[in-house]
Amino acid sequence: MEKQNILIVEDSRFHGAITKDILTKNGYEAIWAMSAEEAMKLNDFDKYDLVLLDVMLPGINGYEFCEIIKNRNPLIPVIMLTSMEDEKSMVTALESGADDYIKKPYSIKELLARMKVQLRTRKLQTELIKKNEELQKAYETIKKLSITDVLTGVYNRGYIKEYIEKLLESRKNSNIELACGMIDIDNFKNVNDTYGHLTGDIVLKSVGLICKQCVGDNGKVIRFGGEEFLIIIDKNLDKTEEIAEKIRYWCEKDRCCGFTYTVSIGLSIFKADTNNLFKDLEDGIKEADKLLYISKNMGKNKVTLNKGYNL
Ligand code: GH3
Ligand code: MG
Ligand code: MG
Ligand code: MG
Repeated sequence: MEKQNILIVEDSRFHGAITKDILTKNGYEAIWAMSAEEAMKLNDFDKYDLVLLDVMLPGINGYEFCEIIKNRNPLIPVIMLTSMEDEKSMVTALESGADDYIKKPYSIKELLARMKVQLRTRKLQTELIKKNEELQKAYETIKKLSITDVLTGVYNRGYIKEYIEKLLESRKNSNIELACGMIDIDNFKNVNDTYGHLTGDIVLKSVGLICKQCVGDNGKVIRFGGEEFLIIIDKNLDKTEEIAEKIRYWCEKDRCCGFTYTVSIGLSIFKADTNNLFKDLEDGIKEADKLLYISKNMGKNKVTLNKGYNL
């Protein structure tokens, strides 16, 4: 097992040498500094496993140094070594952040036992922090998965609520201009029937990627249903038509599976009221869906746009 590092800050040569000797003999790695100033010159002086700190020191005294240590790293245990017997110095030591104090001259057994208590608590704290970090990471992964479409990696429908909340946080004005584009792969059933479901999946992934690349930072891509993708544009609205047209174009050009496929798109640009954003977005999506069916009826592989809707 790796040795634990103990920092001793003690100006008395006699006490310092004895303490260092005791700790070394008991399996610790002990570093001895004769003042707070000298200790602070050590690299990572706040990374020790424990500090044994004398109160009476030249320059910065033990109480002050204890505060400095705790400000840098509140988790590092500090045991104050004090020859002052009065209650006030003991209280001051604890109030300056010390975890424990020992009166000099101390018994070796007591010193080692008190150190063990502090090191044990520190170990538990470190383990708790690590566990907490792991939990936090797991929570973030689950949260991300819950709003991600497993097949294509774009958002799923569950993300819409979070999207609206984030949009409301970032926009202060009462009206927001938005665009919804509904993208549906043409004759996708034929793709599955002809080339198989797995090939169909590859096409779906590719459409998701094309949508993401074309939308970029101007909005979000959501897999809305089986072979339907929703794009929501909330920045650079003047580029909306161009983005939709690019998606249509790049899908037509895509050869991810060696054959041609196309998509039809319905696109609605509208003003949404921040007091009614959920409903307005829902209406925008419905409008995009209607426009999508116009594209389908007009022979597919088309973008149909309604700029005037609700503006
Ligand atoms: P249209 O041009 O009118 O949109 O015709 P379509 O064949 O694309 O539409 P239809 O609604 O008849 O078929 C959609 C197909 O999408 C049927 C379904 O099996 C397929 N599909 C839905 N989800 C997935 C999926 O995750 N993977 C694959 N491979 N296919 C899927
Ligand atoms: Mg001293
Ligand atoms: Mg469909
Ligand atoms: Mg379809």
